[in-house]
Amino acid sequence: MEKTLFQKICDKELSAQVVYEDADVVAFRDINPQAPTHVLIVPRKPIARIAEADAGDAGLLGRLLLKAAEVARTLGLERGFRLVVNNGPDGGEAVPHLHVHILGGRPMQWPPG
Ligand code: AMP
Repeated sequence: MEKTLFQKICDKELSAQVVYEDADVVAFRDINPQAPTHVLIVPRKPIARIAEADAGDAGLLGRLLLKAAEVARTLGLERGFRLVVNNGPDGGEAVPHLHVHILGGRPMQWPPG
């Protein structure tokens, strides 16, 4: 199966501004930032979207969220940040490789668009 865009970033076949990586996850700056800080954190495992994760992914998903918070801290987002997971067409998903958006550096609005 062809690699997803984010797998290619994880495997260094496409360049990106990586801010954190380990054996399970990679975090890199979004190419089209929607906030002063906008980072995507992805599992190396190409789960298409959260609706397709299963119970066997529970540990990985937990580590993904914990690392998202840690990356936010290391990027200096002590005033707060927002984590976003878009799922499917109505959810605004564009890249079919699970990713958590880490947005910060400005006050966020609610409700989201
Ligand atoms: P989503 O709409 O949740 O699927 O988000 C996909 C995100 O990936 C968007 O915010 C894009 O700006 C971002 N994106 C697409 N291609 C790249 C890339 N090559 N490097 C970094 N971010 C990207």
